[in-house]
Amino acid sequence: MIELKHISKIYEGANRVEALKDISLTIEQGQIYGIIGQSGAGKSTLIRCINMLEVPTSGNVIIDGTDLTTLNEKQLREERKYIGMIFQHFNLLSSRTVYDNVAFPLELQGMSKAEIKERILPILDIVKLSDRLDNYPSQLSGGQKQRVGIARALASNPKVLLCDEATSALDPQTTKSILELLKDINQKLNLTIVLITHEMQVIREICDRVAVIEGGVILEEGTVVDVFTNP
Ligand code: ADP
Ligand code: ADP
Repeated sequence: MIELKHISKIYEGANRVEALKDISLTIEQGQIYGIIGQSGAGKSTLIRCINMLEVPTSGNVIIDGTDLTTLNEKQLREERKYIGMIFQHFNLLSSRTVYDNVAFPLELQGMSKAEIKERILPILDIVKLSDRLDNYPSQLSGGQKQRVGIARALASNPKVLLCDEATSALDPQTTKSILELLKDINQKLNLTIVLITHEMQVIREICDRVAVIEGGVILEEGTVVDVFTNP
């Protein structure tokens, strides 16, 4: 489903940073794949390369057979519809209700109001926000805000969901409920999930496979059991 081939990323600037050094990995359809490492390891750069928010300096990003690095802007916009993303700080629009936050990306795609409603009401049900449609983000808890983020990502029917430290701003209890929701979505929708985190517990809780990254290179890669069981 996702193939990263020899990805390197150099940030040019006053001080040149080689954030990723020849990273290759394969993520299968339906997997929950974790990328763990300390701050500055390159996790965020790596996950942003998967949807080309960050353009790799070299290497290939192949999603479902399409090499994103060969596409023009228009083709890339089209492919990005199939890659959802959620964020540590949720990135919701504070002036829009729950319903309108989730509807927003579909409005941008030019979908009709009736189609949008038909698409997103079942999703808002999956994330258990059906009784919160008219609330504004400021009226929601952190966990509820992240569920809006998840619903917004799911609204475009993605094949892949990228999670950028999605539980790092949440307390342990709420983290657990969000991870359970992600697992549920993974199984119900057979959705491939890639998440980055600095928290071992998150990986242990839901991931099938894990890559440990440090200094822009993969130190270890394998099943969670293999990587975290001491020899
Ligand atoms: P992590 O997500 O693991 O904390 P990042 O991918 O954010 O790691 O950062 C990896 C390295 O790249 C760090 O040294 C960071 O300072 C650097 N870096 C990240 N983004 C930029 C940028 N836009 N410009 C320059 N350097 C950057
Ligand atoms: P506008 O974009 O003109 O301000 P709205 O955002 O109020 O319109 O509504 C757009 C569509 O979304 C309407 O068809 C409406 O039925 C639907 N909608 C908005 N809020 C809700 C809600 N809380 N529950 C169900 N449908 C809603």
